[in-house]
Amino acid sequence: MVITPDLKALRVDIERIKKNILELATIGRSQADRGIYRMAFTDADMEGKRWLLDRIDEANLRSASDGAGNIFGQLIPDASAAAAPAVLMGSHIDTVPCAGALDGSLGVVVALECLRTIQASGVRLTRPLELVAFSDEEGRFGGMFGSEAFAGLITPATFDRKDLDGISLGDAMLRQGMDPVKALDAARSRESVEAYLELHIEQGPVLDTNKLSVGVVENITGLFKWQIRFHGEANHAGTTPMEMRKDAFMGLADFAHELPRIIEENGGKHSRATIGKAQILPGSPNTVPGLVEFSLDVRDTDETVLDELSRACQKALAATARRRGLKFEFDELSRIRPVECDPELVKILGEEAEVLQLKSIHMPSGAAHDAQILGGLTRMGMIFAPSRGGKSHSPEEWTAWEDVAAASNLALQSLLRLCTAPTA
Ligand SMILES: [Zn+2]
Repeated sequence: MVITPDLKALRVDIERIKKNILELATIGRSQADRGIYRMAFTDADMEGKRWLLDRIDEANLRSASDGAGNIFGQLIPDASAAAAPAVLMGSHIDTVPCAGALDGSLGVVVALECLRTIQASGVRLTRPLELVAFSDEEGRFGGMFGSEAFAGLITPATFDRKDLDGISLGDAMLRQGMDPVKALDAARSRESVEAYLELHIEQGPVLDTNKLSVGVVENITGLFKWQIRFHGEANHAGTTPMEMRKDAFMGLADFAHELPRIIEENGGKHSRATIGKAQILPGSPNTVPGLVEFSLDVRDTDETVLDELSRACQKALAATARRRGLKFEFDELSRIRPVECDPELVKILGEEAEVLQLKSIHMPSGAAHDAQILGGLTRMGMIFAPSRGGKSHSPEEWTAWEDVAAASNLALQSLLRLCTAPTA
């Protein structure tokens, strides 16, 4: 007689998740500010990767790593199911400087817990199930290196990317005894991957403010980043009459003031525009500014809206420059397309959240994630857990354990559906 385990009653072990999160958080933690410093390919990051490999071995999963330093834990079913395309769940364990304990790490630790729970249940899988921790998501070398390598998007030029100290990605890998060229072999074929699921903290205030325990992500915002310059004329602050000035800073002030109108007229409710960095030159209190250089970061979940915003910003820059007697120019530093989550996965996550009686909403992701890159390779879905006070990239980043348990059980039940479904 075959005993079918009651899969719907299966739950993660929250104590084990807690223990692993707290243990991983000690790696790279500064005693001075309590922040975690596990930037990609530093000694602390490599120690984190070794810690994860040990946990994978301890759980009797098959551990593996690829040339990009991505770490895998695999639950391989027997016979023909082993050759079926795999379902992956993961995130990253590298951090920004002075990070909290959950960004990225939570998704990896929960993936490990889900695989252990599924393995222990004895359920018959119809396809392999893998956990993955991707390298340099946070951007010591620009970000998303591991997931890009996995999706086959890197080239030898990628290794020239530099960190803020001028160290190249290639050199940083060599210093850790890795051969960068091998990262080019990290690419997985479309046929070998069935779906990718990522659980991540929201890093924003929406779930916490509305007292919800999980968010089902529908799409991830795209963005454009510009470096803009207004050229005017530097001149004496005392002798130059107001009407005869070509004040570059006044151009920036006027344009910044236009942004709320641009969002209102050309954007939607998910549009965001930010000027986060500005430099006034020559930068002297008694000189009319001759040059301002500033950043502009604009985001939306809809590509058409993003294009519309891009046109509106250019128009406003041109009008401002004309009015103030300035010249303007801009460089586009990056442009990332918005990515839709797979509708079928969104449906599964929504249904399972309902079965688990979780307070959930469907929402966009305003931050970029590995899932965005994976979305170009395979079907992709994301679960958000609430961030206390919306805080992230800070030692204060936190999520209540009961919310962690809720999001983890949603991941577990959704994974079970994906990896027990009949293969085509
Ligand atoms: Zn992250």
